[in-house]
Amino acid sequence: MTTRRELLKMGGLLTGSVMVGAVPSIATAKSVPSWSARGLAALQRDMDGRLLLPSDEGFPLMVAPNNARWGNVTPKAIALCASEADVQRCIRWATDYKEQFAIRSGGHSYAGFSTTSGLLLSVRYMKGVTMDLKNGTATIQGGVNNQDMADALRAVPYAIPSGRCPTVGASGLVLGGGWGFAASHKGLTCDSLLSTRAVMANASVINVSGAESDDLFWAIRGAGGGNFGVHTSFTFKLHEVGDVTTFNMVWPSGKQVELLEALQKLQIDNARTIATRSKARPNKKGAFPARSDLIVESLGVYWGKAEALRELMAPLLAILKPDVLEFREQSYWQARDYLVTDDPTGLYDMNSSYVGSTLGGEAIETMLNWMSRWPGGTLLQENMGILFAMGGAVKDIAVDGTAYPHRNSNFVFEQETMWSPLDRPDVVARQRDWLAQYYDAMQRYLQPRSYVNFPNRDMKDWANRYYGENLARLSRVKQKYDPKNVFHFAQSVPLAVPR
Ligand SMILES: Cc1cc2nc3c(=O)[nH]c(=O)nc-3n(C[C@H](O)[C@H](O)[C@H](O)COP(=O)(O)OP(=O)(O)OC[C@H]3O[C@@H](n4cnc5c(N)ncnc54)[C@H](O)[C@@H]3O)c2cc1C
Repeated sequence: MTTRRELLKMGGLLTGSVMVGAVPSIATAKSVPSWSARGLAALQRDMDGRLLLPSDEGFPLMVAPNNARWGNVTPKAIALCASEADVQRCIRWATDYKEQFAIRSGGHSYAGFSTTSGLLLSVRYMKGVTMDLKNGTATIQGGVNNQDMADALRAVPYAIPSGRCPTVGASGLVLGGGWGFAASHKGLTCDSLLSTRAVMANASVINVSGAESDDLFWAIRGAGGGNFGVHTSFTFKLHEVGDVTTFNMVWPSGKQVELLEALQKLQIDNARTIATRSKARPNKKGAFPARSDLIVESLGVYWGKAEALRELMAPLLAILKPDVLEFREQSYWQARDYLVTDDPTGLYDMNSSYVGSTLGGEAIETMLNWMSRWPGGTLLQENMGILFAMGGAVKDIAVDGTAYPHRNSNFVFEQETMWSPLDRPDVVARQRDWLAQYYDAMQRYLQPRSYVNFPNRDMKDWANRYYGENLARLSRVKQKYDPKNVFHFAQSVPLAVPR
């Protein structure tokens, strides 16, 4: 137990050495302990990793989230955890002092849910990966990202279904589901999860699997991000991988509706062997792109030979000759490098919904019409309307088999707008208003559901959209494992279902 004298000493110590801009007066420390006096020095001293304060050199680097919209949310300190014990120390500290905190792994939450003005608990430097090839499993620590996972596994003919962006944290990815080009072939990332270790609200560490805390294991596969505990490691089933064929097709403008209909049919007819990410987008910068400026693209993988893929693609290629047509037979890991996205840090707003069957002609027309209403800004818009392939193996698990409920859909539909620091606030406001209206206009063609890993703070009815029929059960799990709602943020799983 820290005495008043020690608290004051700590305050003085921090005041004198590192705290700039938040100097606690003795008067403050006597009444309500200031932030610096509240045991932070002890946390700083005890950590295996490092506690960074705003005046520390690495702070600006560690604070920046992927979506710069949340870049001005400044934590009072960043705990760079190096061990499970560090995570326990942070949770104990936050609960003792009733301070808010947020958990961060890769920092890619679109809605800034890994930002806080309290303590930022970062696991990003917990990067261990171990493999047990005899049992076909791999265990990764909470800070491993997609790139780390690929680097560790590429030497062996096994993989874990993961996402496209190299710097997305495996933690955030698996806890929300985890879409990737292997999803319709082998399932979501969370479908390969065997167990995880988590630091809970009382700072204890538990194993979570089908055999231990199985109700929590159900919940964290689709609703685990920031909701129940801090996950320090994950053990996955490995899948054997061999050669595949990647493809990239870009058409000139024209026949957009026919192409997007045919791409969806191709995906649905070959759900387990093909994975597509198809989209329409303007081919040049500028407001109000004409229909003749909108092009269709499809990138993906075929789990077979190029020759067989060419046959499957023939009807599609007959609609309109593509400007770009690449089929490449390559190893799984070469394919992964080919399909990987760059790391688009920036300023953006986005929404997600699910497509139950297909987006038909009228829905695609609506989408294209809204694209032509984009009000302008300095950036080329590449992600105005994307269809990510679901279905196939994702449907092998029942809607209530894990907390991820969107098993009865064929695609995730993403709508996005991006801007740059050059764009004035009125330009940004118009873009965001456009996105909200475009989202509303598309809803009649979509399932009223959203992917929790593509979150939006302004979404109405977010709990039902993320969790659907699994929401009530999730609240019961929350009551059991986190009854005091220690793990909470703007869209955390509620203790009771809102009426
Ligand atoms: C450029 C980009 C590309 C993307 N590509 C894909 C894709 O291909 N497929 C896909 O499915 N998604 C994709 N996403 C979405 C991505 O899956 C989610 O944003 C995911 O939550 C990010 O995880 P993170 O660890 O990087 O983010 P963070 O912001 O660190 O965390 C996301 C959420 O999980 C919580 N969290 C993080 N670590 C832990 C932990 N160890 N224990 C408990 N809670 C934790 C955080 O508090 C936060 O609520 C992409 C996002 C971006 C920005």
